[in-house]
Amino acid sequence: MTTAENINTSSMDIYLASPRGFCAGVVLAVDIVELAIKKHGTPVYVKHQIVHNPIVVAETERKGAITVEHVSEVPEGSVVVFSAHGSPPSDYEEAERRNLTVIDATCPLVTRVHNEAKKYAREGKKIILVGHRGHQEVIGSTGQTDMSLIDEREGIDVPEFEGDEPEIAVLTQTTLSVRDTAEAIGQITEKYPNAMVRNDICYATTNRQEAASQLAEITELVLVIGAQNSSNCNRLKEVAESYGVRAFLINGPDEIDTSWFDGITRVGITSGASTPESSVAAVVEAINPTNVIHIGQGDENITFRLPKELRKVQKTAGVRTGVRR
Ligand code: SF4
Repeated sequence: MTTAENINTSSMDIYLASPRGFCAGVVLAVDIVELAIKKHGTPVYVKHQIVHNPIVVAETERKGAITVEHVSEVPEGSVVVFSAHGSPPSDYEEAERRNLTVIDATCPLVTRVHNEAKKYAREGKKIILVGHRGHQEVIGSTGQTDMSLIDEREGIDVPEFEGDEPEIAVLTQTTLSVRDTAEAIGQITEKYPNAMVRNDICYATTNRQEAASQLAEITELVLVIGAQNSSNCNRLKEVAESYGVRAFLINGPDEIDTSWFDGITRVGITSGASTPESSVAAVVEAINPTNVIHIGQGDENITFRLPKELRKVQKTAGVRTGVRR
């Protein structure tokens, strides 16, 4: 069992990364579910986990959301919110066939990737997406148009295209490792020097990885708080490990193994873009450190606008939106 009493905190300092936790896209998606319930009543269906965190999902379900994996599971005529990760056009088509009201919670930075893909396809360019096969965002992005996928975990196999100088556009998943993506892009541009490279890794991913690097430089152990299926949490863990520091991805204090702290006095803590701050606070409380020191560039000042159909609901219902939780 893990309690503050059996973690030896006699001279333990916690270094807390900033920024960490909710990004603007996650705040927007969570607000959208809440406002959709206010507007339409319960239940409101959510296609795929609204964001990759079980606590956030449970909280939306407590308010009246029902999470499903496929549009086909949503009863005909219902209201459905599409998750922050983005969805392929086939999901919207299926929703239309089922007479569903779709509210789109796709992060605007993911929508931007979709728009880039469609634009470059119209221009006749060959598109390469660097991303992780099977991740919800990649399912949504690859559905927009024909494209080749490079998943660096499977090896970087740059595709062959016909013609002397094929026009190529390179897009990326928004939550990848900055370092691994640079490696993949380097190999693509070595083969196709004229390839147009869009850096789609989002500000939240970049900033959290930068702060995790700073943590790893000064600590002996890094705890990343968040879910196992969160792409950006896993990348934060990898960033810390790349500095030779032991790192663990945990949902909360119950998953701490107290032996991790043996002989350790400096623990770094960060969290992914879908992790609520309450999870971080619970871990800090369990460790009960001597000092908490903040590391990094500090909070971000970015917010995204609600969809038009929900702005009025937000005003009339007086729901406080845009708040990191
Ligand atoms: S991690 Fe980036 S792309 Fe994903 S929801 Fe947050 S801001 Fe949007």
